[in-house]
Amino acid sequence: MSSSIADTLAQIEERIHQACQRAGRSSESVRLLAVSKRKPAADVTAALAAGQTLFGENRIQEAREKIPEVNDPRAEWHLIGPLQRNKVKYAVKLFHMVHSLDSLSLASELDKRIPQERTPLSVLLQVNVGREPQKSGFDPSEVEEAARAVSEMANLRVCGLMAIPPYDPDPEAVRPHFRALAELAKKVDNLSISGISMEELSMGMSHDFECAIEEGATLVRVGSALFGPRL
Ligand SMILES: *Cc1c(COP(=O)(O)O)cnc(C)c1O
Repeated sequence: MSSSIADTLAQIEERIHQACQRAGRSSESVRLLAVSKRKPAADVTAALAAGQTLFGENRIQEAREKIPEVNDPRAEWHLIGPLQRNKVKYAVKLFHMVHSLDSLSLASELDKRIPQERTPLSVLLQVNVGREPQKSGFDPSEVEEAARAVSEMANLRVCGLMAIPPYDPDPEAVRPHFRALAELAKKVDNLSISGISMEELSMGMSHDFECAIEEGATLVRVGSALFGPRL
């Protein structure tokens, strides 16, 4: 028998709670981002009914269909995938936070396109912590300069950093990357750049979110462990 989304959600919340306890952190310091990509609106609705409110999508076209279909003001949507210039106009209307800000040209395009009536868009600077050529994100050495540049953009609010470390089935192999991202955030925070904060660390996925929490994650992005494998 397959368990319900509500049951699985409760199990994941318990694992988050345990990881927080091990790390001496309060459970309120970590939020679960339920990654609903390639899953139907009905799964989001089931998670909402069980109390989950943060959802992550990685493709604009899919989000443009799913978000109106879910049509629930309790849901808060976060973009976690690469954003093309020609889709920025949709992204600024659909998302509360963009985790995947990976270049200054994308930042200025977003800044330009934010509708006057909305509050600043929360963004995280995506960092290529493993310096993998095929992955997007700022090189760790570029993050300070990027934070300064985006801090000047009136319609964007930098809230922290995000990373997708090199994949390894063993969370212990990923831990140094989580630690490096947390240290980088601390370094940027110590610069006291006006108008930005480093309060959010978006890191950890289905197989390694507990390890990420031990290293300071405040947003864990969990898809398959919650909604089942993506076909
Ligand atoms: C798909 C995705 C996730 C969730 O991955 P799971 O392993 O299914 O938890 C997290 N972050 C990003 C950026 C993703 O694209």
